Amino acid sequence: MRSPIPDFLDETLDRHRSDRSGANADYIPDLAAADPEKLGICISTLDGVEYTSGDSEFEFSIQSMSKPFIYGMVLEQEGMAAVLDMVGVEPSGEAFNELSLDKMSGKPLNPMINAGAMVIHSLLGEPGTSLAERIEIVRAGLSEFAGRQLRVDDSVAEGEWGEAYRNVAIANMLRSYGVYTDQPDAVVQGYIAQCSILITTRDLGIMAATLAAGGVNPISGKQVLSPRVNRQVLGVMMTCGMYDAAGDWMTEVGVPAKSGVSGGVFGVLPGQVGIATFSPRLDKHGTSVRGANIFRTLSRELSLHIMDAPEPARSIIRRDRRFVDSQGVMVRICSLQGLIQWSGAENVIRTMDAPESNVEAFVLDLRRVNEINGVARRMLTEAMSRLEEEGKRIALMDPEDMLLCQSPSSSLPDVEYVDSPKALKGLRRLREDWSQRAV
Ligand code: GLU
Repeated sequence: MRSPIPDFLDETLDRHRSDRSGANADYIPDLAAADPEKLGICISTLDGVEYTSGDSEFEFSIQSMSKPFIYGMVLEQEGMAAVLDMVGVEPSGEAFNELSLDKMSGKPLNPMINAGAMVIHSLLGEPGTSLAERIEIVRAGLSEFAGRQLRVDDSVAEGEWGEAYRNVAIANMLRSYGVYTDQPDAVVQGYIAQCSILITTRDLGIMAATLAAGGVNPISGKQVLSPRVNRQVLGVMMTCGMYDAAGDWMTEVGVPAKSGVSGGVFGVLPGQVGIATFSPRLDKHGTSVRGANIFRTLSRELSLHIMDAPEPARSIIRRDRRFVDSQGVMVRICSLQGLIQWSGAENVIRTMDAPESNVEAFVLDLRRVNEINGVARRMLTEAMSRLEEEGKRIALMDPEDMLLCQSPSSSLPDVEYVDSPKALKGLRRLREDWSQRAV
């Protein structure tokens, strides 16, 4: 079968291709000269498949889209507390290059605006790290996210440095407030080199998928960020990634995202996909016009909005049956399905807890469950222990060992396994199974 997904992406690009509104960034010569007709997209899955269309192999500079990744690297290097001490996580509601610091603390409001990103950049490496070494740390680090070796485009960097009056002003202001002690010019040059790393739309899709996969690069399989840091990065992207359009973006598109003045936009749907687009003409916020509109289309047509409520928790209980076995014992079987998280486990516990004094045996059938997260696992094992304390018999149908595999052994209830649906026909048979398969 020819997958319909590439066709859908081709059609989506075609729908937006004729939109020529907006203009290239004009303050960086190479961006001003970029071909404004370029248009590319990549949707990258968490198991390493990239669906691309258009100019997805065309290279452009990463610009501000580097900020979340470098933020993650510095969080890993310095620890959460030390970084939060220097750069906040509050949306500024201002343009990316605003000369602003938090009025109370004197620190940059967040790591997505230039002031915060420059402080974050200055923290890379050991104290005393040279400019060249810092640039190499950036290059190597971003390459880990992309899963291939990236390089700095010196022409883009030199062009931006020639016009970097505003970023130099911000860096000097930060230095004068004592936010960092490095030489402001070196910080700006390093930050500009960071922004000048070349990527393709495909690279950007993989980088986005790495964040969507909890920090694991889907191509190399490498854990590039720890899950906790990854979550912090996504939280900041969600609230601050789109600068003064963050509210509009979150309500309308609902995908944590970051744009760059080169025309790239990437979005991350945790646990699902990474998405990247490229088209150089920008709106007044500095975000690609066609890129943002493509995200709107994808969000709508693929139901990607992060706030769309998932299916209600009760749908995880597929069947709840009772039967009386040949010896007159009442057995209750709860068959579960899908992904079980806190709310689903709460629902199962409530169901198991129904005041039915005549139920003597409970069977939890997990054969159709895809995943049980840590908290749900703890809740269900605890509930089973309590039922057991009350004198009930507990059995599991869990051929893939979903429930007990990661529980600390001290909390394991004395559970017994059945693996044959036929065993459920009668408790006598069930008991035979239990005695053979007792854990
Ligand atoms: N290098 C650019 C700047 O600092 C990045 C801005 C952006 O992409 O939003 O001005």
